[in-house]
Amino acid sequence: MSFDLVGQIATSNLCGMSSEANPRFPAPHTQFVGDISVTVLNDGYFDFPFELFLNNSPEEVRALSEKSPQKLPMRGFLNSFLIEVGQEKILVDGGGGSISPTVGNSRNALASLGVTPQEITKIVTTHLHADHVAGLLDSAGETVYPHAEVFTHAAEVAFWNDKGLMARADKEFQFYIGLAQSFSRATAFQTTQFSAEQDVVPGVRLLPTPGHTPGHTMILVSSGRDQLLIWGDIVHVAAIQFPQPDWHLDFDMDGELGAATRRRTMDRVAQDRIAIMGCHLPFPAVGYVVRDGSGFRFEPAFWEF
Ligand SMILES: [Zn+2]
Repeated sequence: MSFDLVGQIATSNLCGMSSEANPRFPAPHTQFVGDISVTVLNDGYFDFPFELFLNNSPEEVRALSEKSPQKLPMRGFLNSFLIEVGQEKILVDGGGGSISPTVGNSRNALASLGVTPQEITKIVTTHLHADHVAGLLDSAGETVYPHAEVFTHAAEVAFWNDKGLMARADKEFQFYIGLAQSFSRATAFQTTQFSAEQDVVPGVRLLPTPGHTPGHTMILVSSGRDQLLIWGDIVHVAAIQFPQPDWHLDFDMDGELGAATRRRTMDRVAQDRIAIMGCHLPFPAVGYVVRDGSGFRFEPAFWEF
């Protein structure tokens, strides 16, 4: 699998070629799940080329993308999440830090809520891609959240820290490997690895869902009869992957497994009417999945007064 595009996107964003360098980030958005509050922290966005999708021609991707009235280019938002339950403040991912001028807002968003890094008690990583963990490190490569216990899937840690991986990778992918390894090193003292479903705290459950990466994990938040699924990277481009859940992309380590996981997850949340949040869904990134023909569609959640 080629990761050339990953590097190209990072590089073009770094050079400020594809997007303005001073995005207007939105304020955090809080949703309640029974007694638990879940706040979406927008970290920024990436603009993707049509060549991102591997099992379709760029023309096909463009045609489907243009069915949406949203203006081009094809945009993937980037979001982190803060779950507050009792005394616990649990951060889900930390955004892309300085990997692109169009991302890196998660820490500002947290600060705007009056939450300091020292107050974060736990961190869950959905996976170790740079856009999810680079923002958890400071410019010296050290952890920003020293008091947090970090939960990362064991398969994710093993994959990125495989001794032979760097030598086998092309230059662009080496950047991502390097960041995942830096993160693993910097947070080793505070990391708890898991390999099966488990609770972080009662009401916050880890659901391993391999495909996008070997240790990709979703988080199910439950309180009373309410449920909300933070589904990580199940969808990167909403305009494409709701109507065509089988279309997968360059970032997927196992595209076929990722597509099967996406379809199964969408089926489940559509059937059970479980609210979802996604790392790359359009901010505020909360809504429902509805079956639509052979695919699905996304219905943004209404404001709950
Ligand atoms: Zn991602």
